Amino acid sequence: MENFEDRLQRVMEKIKEEVGKNAFSTWFERISIRQNGENSLAVYVPNKFFGEWFSKNYLPILLKAFRDESSITPDVKILIEESLEDLAEPEELPLKKKQGLCLNLIPKYTFENFVVGKSNEFPYSASFAVANEPGKVYNPLYIYGGVGLGKTHLLNAIGHRTRKIHSDLNIIYISAESFMNEFLKAIRMNTMEQFRKRYRQTFDVILIDDVQFLSGNKESTQEEFFHTFNALFNLNKQIVLTSDRAPKDIEQLQERLRSRFEMGLVVEINPPELETKVAILKKKAELYSISLPNEIAFYIAERIHSNVRELEGALLRIKAISALKNSPITLELVKEALHGFIEERGAKVNPEKVLKEVSEAFKVKLSDLRSRRRFKQIALPRQVAMFIMRTYLGMSFPEIGLFFGGKDHTTVIHAVRKVEKEITKDIYLQEIVENLKKKLFIET
Ligand code: ADP
Ligand code: MG
Repeated sequence: MENFEDRLQRVMEKIKEEVGKNAFSTWFERISIRQNGENSLAVYVPNKFFGEWFSKNYLPILLKAFRDESSITPDVKILIEESLEDLAEPEELPLKKKQGLCLNLIPKYTFENFVVGKSNEFPYSASFAVANEPGKVYNPLYIYGGVGLGKTHLLNAIGHRTRKIHSDLNIIYISAESFMNEFLKAIRMNTMEQFRKRYRQTFDVILIDDVQFLSGNKESTQEEFFHTFNALFNLNKQIVLTSDRAPKDIEQLQERLRSRFEMGLVVEINPPELETKVAILKKKAELYSISLPNEIAFYIAERIHSNVRELEGALLRIKAISALKNSPITLELVKEALHGFIEERGAKVNPEKVLKEVSEAFKVKLSDLRSRRRFKQIALPRQVAMFIMRTYLGMSFPEIGLFFGGKDHTTVIHAVRKVEKEITKDIYLQEIVENLKKKLFIET
């Protein structure tokens, strides 16, 4: 009979092709599969959360791959690798211990206020699991994705929930930028000792927002960050990081810092689909005591593509105008409130449309923009198109790369960052982009 290991190897190769490298390394490289009698498998997973998620999302793929290989669907048992792990919920809460510190958390960003949909289901579950058992499940947890998609919200939600169930722990939320500023100040004021003590000995859960700010910073800052990170990690303290990009895409980041970031679980948060956008609008309306009819929620959600922050902005604008006019929220009122804010031409803005407008704005040929040609006149328009697709259409870097004939996603990242930077300095470019936005998203 054929060797089980050989068969397994082939099955794994197939799965890797099917789910892609990232998902494969997150989910399939962390399990071990053993034969458990004829046509029966034991799948060992690292912990309960992982097991639940795996069963729901990846077990069908595993089964199918085995079936394709041998036309038999095996029985599968999911087992926790370390049977030492205590699966039972604690019987009763431990006696109240001292109250821990809790710094900088933003009160309204809780799990209760976070709407879960397909686009953010995984980051949400991972965050929830980490909040329940800080330091035990995934360390670090690294959440990345575009602006306004809920990273800061999730990070704070972890803090709130941990606070609720582990009230003795010391928790801090801090942006990477503030961390660096504090560090630089400590150097200046000669208070490094306190700084180190504060970060390495005080906190049990440290929530660091926007770590992309570390990139390009002085070696010494990154160095300090690295040592802080290691110290916390070695003490089993929970670290959660967010960023607008994956660790591998942060330029000028020390290699060892990068690999530290990748050591735990790296999850992406995506732009919400229509249903989620509607649900978020309804939730926010509730929070702000706005009465928002369903059809109006749909009307708004269908027209705002970029991110959740803009959804919220639109809602507040509607509320303000409705108060000003002392009138209920009707479709008429919404159209007026969002005039110049959203696309009203009916048709959705798609990447083709962006390309077309960009080619007209820069007076270059559309076919050149999309070709692999590299001459200079094309470079800037192409970068601007990529920037718009990322920032206003919420497309992912790889998606944009693909759209441009299979360019590497790092090229896209580079392009987007360049435009982001140039636009703050170059009035001419600012104007072009403003006009493009008007053309693309505002009624004509
Ligand atoms: P990021 O840090 O990713 O740029 P934020 O966490 O600041 O984004 O989110 C921007 C706004 O959108 C916040 O007001 C946040 O509450 C809201 N938001 C984002 N995602 C959700 C969600 N799934 N449910 C409810 N509100 C959300
Ligand atoms: Mg943020």
